[in-house]
Amino acid sequence: MPENQTPRSIIVVGGGVIGVSSAVHLLRSGAEVTLVTERELASGASGRSLSWLNSAGARSPEYHALRMTGIDRYRTLFTEDPSHEWLQFGGGVYWDHDGGAAAVARHEHERSHGYDSRLVDPTTIADFTSGLHSEALAPTSVFNPGEGWVSLPHLIEHLMGEFARRGGVLTTNTGRVEVVVEDGRAVGVEAPSIGMLRADAVVVACGAHTPDVLAQLGVRIENGSPVSMLVVTEPLEHDVKAVLNTPRAAIRPNPGRTIAIDHDWYEEHIVRDAAGEYSIPEPVVDELLAEAARLIDGTPQLKAGSWKIGLKPIPGDGEPVFGELQKVPGCYAAFTHSGATLALIAGELIADEVTTGRRHPMLATFRPERFEV
Ligand SMILES: Cc1cc2nc3c(=O)[nH]c(=O)nc-3n(C[C@H](O)[C@H](O)[C@H](O)COP(=O)(O)OP(=O)(O)OC[C@H]3O[C@@H](n4cnc5c(N)ncnc54)[C@H](O)[C@@H]3O)c2cc1C
Repeated sequence: MPENQTPRSIIVVGGGVIGVSSAVHLLRSGAEVTLVTERELASGASGRSLSWLNSAGARSPEYHALRMTGIDRYRTLFTEDPSHEWLQFGGGVYWDHDGGAAAVARHEHERSHGYDSRLVDPTTIADFTSGLHSEALAPTSVFNPGEGWVSLPHLIEHLMGEFARRGGVLTTNTGRVEVVVEDGRAVGVEAPSIGMLRADAVVVACGAHTPDVLAQLGVRIENGSPVSMLVVTEPLEHDVKAVLNTPRAAIRPNPGRTIAIDHDWYEEHIVRDAAGEYSIPEPVVDELLAEAARLIDGTPQLKAGSWKIGLKPIPGDGEPVFGELQKVPGCYAAFTHSGATLALIAGELIADEVTTGRRHPMLATFRPERFEV
């Protein structure tokens, strides 16, 4: 591509929510887009995410601002069609095992920067949200009315409808793709299954494998991605509306009257076989289901419909990694924790940077080169 010209053709690598959102936003700005991914769409973390839309707790002001803008974009999507079963704003409830001290500290911090945060107790929780077993609550919890949840496989399907309408090209089951560099600039991607595909720019949105793809270009990104699991129950009658973050289970409603459940206490029980596949003993899944059931009104017997295990993308310093590589112009990184909350805004800002060549101020502290010191 001649210097000082903005890219017309762009390859996005990675069929998770960050890659799909980037691809759709690039198409919206008039680019020609090819999306390539190793297996099927949503085969990585986006296919097994709790996807709580939030900026609760403490983090850098820049990360908080980006997350709030991320939630804003979901509000817009929700307003366009509030009937989507896969995107809901029912608030969030948090407590820890210390009876309330952590909740009070979190609430004070949240109030200090205007994040909507209320302290609740077992007698008042029903004024804010439904379907919970009030006796399971800590004496003091936080309720955040502005939070919500999304089912990422459904969001990806929704975005891919627009991707197809706008003429995007999708290639799945490519196997691991590598970025091709000529004269110091990214000029496309290659894999044995597809040969070489040329483009003016490449966006690498490979989730927890993003640092591996960039390492082949001599770029170091610290990777702190742990192994995690999402359990989805069989359908049941329930009236849970909020996302719950509690000491032994994190849960949210999920389409089809199911419940999605996540936590981290069971990580030590996850084993990886020689082929790289993860598994967990079924009694541990049953224990997680029992912990979740205790939170729900009527303490229903929860049955696992499925459980999926794999890496949860998290950069080594916990902050997002977004933007063009200084070492390899034309190649953009998109690697983040809380990629559900950020998916829409991340895709929007990455597309903006790729197509205009201008660095967006909201991404100033998230540049990939910060790991190069
Ligand atoms: C259990 C769990 C709970 C979570 N909870 C929340 C939450 O409450 N709130 C929140 O905001 N976020 C949450 N997240 C995080 C969020 O789900 C992820 O940040 C987001 O899904 C990441 O999307 P992604 O597109 O970056 O990665 P992925 O969804 O992992 O997609 C990356 C894709 O790239 C493909 N790929 C990898 N390498 C290559 C290659 N070399 N060539 C071609 N393709 C390749 C993979 O196959 C994969 O399909 C959670 C995640 C998990 C796992």
